[in-house]
Amino acid sequence: MGALFVAALLAGQATCTAAGRTTLHWYGQSAWKIQTPSGGVILIDPWLTVPTNPDRHSIDELSRVDYILITHGHGDHVGDAVDIAKKTGATLVAPYGLMINMVSMLGYPAKQATMATGGNVGGTIDLPKVGAHILIVNAIHGSELTAPTIASPASGHPAAVTSGNPVGYVIKIDGGPTIYDTGDTDVFEDMKLIPMFQHVDLMLACIGDHFTMGPSRAALAVQWVNPTHVIPMHYGTFSLLTGTRAAFREALVKRGIGDKLIVMKPGEDRSF
Ligand SMILES: [Zn+2]
Repeated sequence: MGALFVAALLAGQATCTAAGRTTLHWYGQSAWKIQTPSGGVILIDPWLTVPTNPDRHSIDELSRVDYILITHGHGDHVGDAVDIAKKTGATLVAPYGLMINMVSMLGYPAKQATMATGGNVGGTIDLPKVGAHILIVNAIHGSELTAPTIASPASGHPAAVTSGNPVGYVIKIDGGPTIYDTGDTDVFEDMKLIPMFQHVDLMLACIGDHFTMGPSRAALAVQWVNPTHVIPMHYGTFSLLTGTRAAFREALVKRGIGDKLIVMKPGEDRSF
């Protein structure tokens, strides 16, 4: 009886582990892969060729990608989205103006980028292929496309083409965590609205400074959103991004919320 009980318990654990985990992979900068409990795959801001990614074959290694979420039009966020979309058939999720420009200027496959997943701030969109639901939220930033393919004829230099609102995403995963990706942003007081509608289990927060909030302002953002855990991103990629995880840790500790911090390294996986 004892052996049978143990066998049943182990079988139960195995089932639970296989069916119940959400896995996050950080490539570096703001590029994430989320594998949902149902086996679906979401990429966010997929700059997989970011210099800090230790794996130079990340794009080749991708097989299934269901959705690519882009927060805004800058090159370190649009990244390798078009190549990945052509390889995997992934559907684009983006602010509508950015979606239009990614199709017309960058060649994102049009049939994978329709109004069904092109939304805007305040809107919710279901992602049925992965068992997730997103809320699009504000971000205080810019959203220009600056691809070399849209160089100004007069100067030969890339033009900056405004491409909708910059955004963040609150991603509620069926049977898994709710993840808030801030996108590139400063702290702003309306972040307080997010937990009024949905508890955030995991916040992915930019901390690099110069183009976005740095560690001390990001710590205030964490206090307002009040997630269970926060993982810093968008730092350490270039010398201009001076925010560090040590400074972020110190700023969180100063606010009495140092226990929320989880630090990941580019190339690392974490399951929740
Ligand atoms: Zn950025």
